[in-house]
Amino acid sequence: MKLHMQILIALGLGIKRNWHIFFGIIAGILVGIFLHEHPSALVSTILTFVGQVFIRLIQMVVIPLVVSAIIIGITSVGDNKQLGKFGKKMILYYGIITTAAVAIGAALALIFKPGIGAANYIAANSAAEVQASVANAMAQQQGNILNIFLGFIPNNPFHSFAYGDMVPIIVFVLIFAVALAKVGDVNRPIVAFFESVFAATMKITDWIMFLAAPGVFALTASAVSSFGIDIFASISKYLFVLFLGFLLQLFVVYPLFLKFFSKVSIVMLYSAVAEAMMVAFGTASSSATLPLTIACCEKRGISHKISSFVLPLGATLNMDGTALLQTVAVIFLAQAYGVPLDLFLIVQIALLAIIASSTCAGIPGAGLITIALILNGMGLSPEQLVAGFAFLFTIERVTDMMRTLVNVTSDTVVVAAIADNENEINYDLLNNPQAYEEIA
Ligand code: ASP
Repeated sequence: MKLHMQILIALGLGIKRNWHIFFGIIAGILVGIFLHEHPSALVSTILTFVGQVFIRLIQMVVIPLVVSAIIIGITSVGDNKQLGKFGKKMILYYGIITTAAVAIGAALALIFKPGIGAANYIAANSAAEVQASVANAMAQQQGNILNIFLGFIPNNPFHSFAYGDMVPIIVFVLIFAVALAKVGDVNRPIVAFFESVFAATMKITDWIMFLAAPGVFALTASAVSSFGIDIFASISKYLFVLFLGFLLQLFVVYPLFLKFFSKVSIVMLYSAVAEAMMVAFGTASSSATLPLTIACCEKRGISHKISSFVLPLGATLNMDGTALLQTVAVIFLAQAYGVPLDLFLIVQIALLAIIASSTCAGIPGAGLITIALILNGMGLSPEQLVAGFAFLFTIERVTDMMRTLVNVTSDTVVVAAIADNENEINYDLLNNPQAYEEIA
C-alpha cells in the first residue's frame, strides 16, 4: 500500500472520534455539493437511510433518558432550598445568554439590513407546495400566548410520552420528581429503577456513537445536496448576518459569560463537548443530541448531579441560536416588505423571540414553526406572511444545523457555569483533554 494511504488510514484509526465526526461533516459537505450537480437517486436513498438510522436510534433513547435524568437529578439534590437555588440560577443564566442572542440578532439585522431589496427574491420562492405546509403551520399557531402555555400542562402525560411532546413531558416529570424528592425514603425503589434506566440508556448511547461519523456524514451530504451552494450566493447577506451572529455567540458571548460567572476555560469546555457540538450540527436536533451532550459533560468532569438536572431542561427550553435566527428572520422580512421598524416593534420582536424559541421543541425545523408567534403581530398581509415563510423554508436546513449547534453549545456553557459555582466540576479532568474517556 502506498505510504500516503497508510498514513491516512493510521490517522483515521488513531485519532479521536470527534475528528472522525469532523471529517464526516467536511466529507458530507463535499459529497453534497457534488450530488447537487450530479444527482443520483440511489446514492441519495442510501444517504437518507443511513442518516435516518442514526437519528432514529439516538431519538429512541431520548425520552427514557430525559425522564430518568431529571428524576435522578432532582431527587439527588433533595432539599428544596438547593433545588430552588439551582433552578433560579439556571433560569437566570439561560435568560442572560438568550437576551444576548436576540440583542446581537437585532443589532446585526439593523446594521446590515439584509432584507432591503429581498422582496422579489422572496416572492419567487413561494412554491405552492411549500405554501400549503406553511399555511398549515400558521393555522396551528393562531392561538394566543396563553393557549400555548396551557398546552404545556399535559392533561394526559401518557399522550405526551406517546407523541414525544417534550415540553409537557418535562413539566410532568419535573413535578413528579419534586414530589418524589419530598416523600422521603419511600421513593427509593422508583429512584433505583430510574438509576438503572439511566445507566442502560447511556450504554446504548455509547453504542450508537459508533455510527456518529457515518451518520453525520450522511445527514450533512443529503442536506447539502438538496440546496447546493448557489443558495449562499443569492441570499448571502441574510446568511452572513446569521453566521456572524452565531460566531459572536460562540466566540464572544460564551467566553465572556464563563469568564464572568465561573473559572471554566472555554477552550477546555469546547474540547470536552466537541462531539456533541458536531452531532448537533449534523442532526439539527438538540433533543437527539442530548444523550451525547450528557455523556460528554459527565465523562469529562461535570458532575452527574448538575448535568442530569440542567441539560435535559436546557435541550428543550434554552434555544438561544433559534432566538437569534428568529429575530434576524423577522427583521429581514419586515425590511423586505417595508414594515417600519420602531424601537417598540424591535423590542416586541426580541421578547417574542425569547418566548417563541423556548416554546419550540429540540427537533429539526421547530424554530421556524414557532416563528409564526412573532410574525402574527407584525401587520404583514397573509400573502406576504406565506411567501416570507416559504422563503425561510427554502434555506431551513442549513440555518437549522447552525442554530442547533449554538443551542447545544449554550446548554453546556450554562451547565459548566452552574457546576463551577456549586463546586461540582472535576477540573483535573476537564482541563486535561488527554485523559478524556471516549464516548463508547
Ligand atoms: N432544531 C433546533 C434544535 O433542535 C430547534 C429549531 O428548530 O430551532 O435545537
